[in-house]
Amino acid sequence: MEKLVSLAKRRGFVFQSSEIYGGLGSVWDYGPLGVELKKNIKERWWRSMVHEREDIEGLDAAILMHPKVWEASGHVAGFTDPLVDCKQCKNRFRADDPRLKGPPGDPNTKCPVCGNKGTLTAPRMFNLMFKTFMGPVEEQAAVIYLRPETAQGIYVNYLNVLQSSRQKIPFGIAQIGKAFRNEITPGNFIFRTREFEQMEMQFFVKPGSDGEWFEFWRAERFKWLQGLGIRAERLRWHQHGKDELAHYAKDAYDIEYEFPFGWQEFEGIHNRTDFDLSRHQEHSGKKLEYVDTATNERFVPYVIETSAGADRTALVVMCDAYHEDDVEGEKRVVLRFRPSLAPLKAAVFPLVNKDGMPELARKLYDALRGQFNVFYDDGGSIGRRYRRQDEAGTPFGITVDGQSTQDGTVTVRDRDTLKQDRVDSGRLVDYLRDKLAG
Ligand SMILES: [Zn+2]
Repeated sequence: MEKLVSLAKRRGFVFQSSEIYGGLGSVWDYGPLGVELKKNIKERWWRSMVHEREDIEGLDAAILMHPKVWEASGHVAGFTDPLVDCKQCKNRFRADDPRLKGPPGDPNTKCPVCGNKGTLTAPRMFNLMFKTFMGPVEEQAAVIYLRPETAQGIYVNYLNVLQSSRQKIPFGIAQIGKAFRNEITPGNFIFRTREFEQMEMQFFVKPGSDGEWFEFWRAERFKWLQGLGIRAERLRWHQHGKDELAHYAKDAYDIEYEFPFGWQEFEGIHNRTDFDLSRHQEHSGKKLEYVDTATNERFVPYVIETSAGADRTALVVMCDAYHEDDVEGEKRVVLRFRPSLAPLKAAVFPLVNKDGMPELARKLYDALRGQFNVFYDDGGSIGRRYRRQDEAGTPFGITVDGQSTQDGTVTVRDRDTLKQDRVDSGRLVDYLRDKLAG
C-alpha cells in the first residue's frame, strides 16, 4: 500500500490535504492525474446509469438541507458511534477499539496512548454528522449539517423529479456528490475519509416487485465493475447478516474488493423498503404516495439503492491496475488502467531534441490535444520518459524519430505489450480512437 501511496503522490494522483501545514487528517486532494481518473469513473457511471437508461433521471441536490431531513432519516438520533475519552491525554477512541484492554469505565483499564489507568470515560454516543450554523447567529435554532449521504437529497426530490420528468414507476434517480462523516478512525489512504464523494442511485418500485429489482441491480452493478477492468477474483459479495442489517433494510449486499489491507466494501446494494419515503411523509406532512393511473392503486414505493464511493472505486481501480514487471532485467512499475479510464491517453516524445523532431512532435501534440488528453515530454532519455508514462498509466507512447521527418510515420508503443507499431501520423487520431474504445 505504501508503494501505491508514494506513486500517487509522485505522479500527481493524490496529495494529502494542506500538506505544507502538516496535513489535515484523512483528507486528500486529487492532483492533475487523479482528478482525470476520478472524472472518467464518474462519467462512465453517469453514462451507464442516466444516459443509457430511459428509466433513470439525474439530480444534483445541495449539500446543505433542512435540518428536519436528518430527524426524519434517523441520522440525528441514530447516526452515532459509542466513543471513549481519555481524561488525561484527551484522546478519543471507538468503544470497540482493539487496543482497549478491558472495559473503558473500569479503574484498572489503561489508556492505550498515555498508559494511565482509570482515565477512560464510559462509552458515550457521538454523532458522526458535521454540524455548523446557518446565518449570523450561532445558536441551536441555526444548526445545520453537512449531509452524511446523498440519498436523502433524492428522497425529498422524489415527487419533483417524478412529476417534471413524467416518469412512471419503476424509475430511478441518480446523483453524484460529496458527503461528510466525522469518522473517528478514518484511514487507509482514500478508503475511509471524512469528506468523500458518492455515486448513488435510488430506484423506486412497487412493493412486491422489490425482490426482483434487487436481484436485477445486483447483477447490473457487478457487470459494470467488471467493465472497469477489475479482476473478478478480487471481487466478492458479502450479504449483511441480521446483526449488520440497518433497521430499515430488508436485504443488503456489499461488493468487496481485496485491497492490500484486506477485503473491504466499496459499493452496496440495499433494499430500503418504504422506510425513507414513509418517514419523510410523516415528518413533512406531504403525501409521497404514488398513484398508478392504470389501476388506481396508491402506495408508497419501495427503494432499491445502489450506493458506490467514487473515491473507493478510484482506489480499487488504482490497486487493481498496479503491477510490477520485469523488463529486460529492470523493474518496471506500471498502472494498467483500461484505456478509457486512463487519465492521459497518449504521450508524445521527440526521440532527440534536434533535426526537426521537436517541431514535428509539437505539431502532432497540438493536433491530438483537441481530441484526447495527451502529454508532451522531451525531458531525459526516451527510456525514462516511457517509465514515467507507465507509472501514470498512459496507454500509448508516440515517438517522433529520424524516419518520421522523412516519411511522416511515428512509432506507437503499447504500455502493456511494449510492442511498437509504425503508424502514419495522418492516421494517428483514428488509430488511437480505435484502441481507446475499451
Ligand atoms: Zn490517555
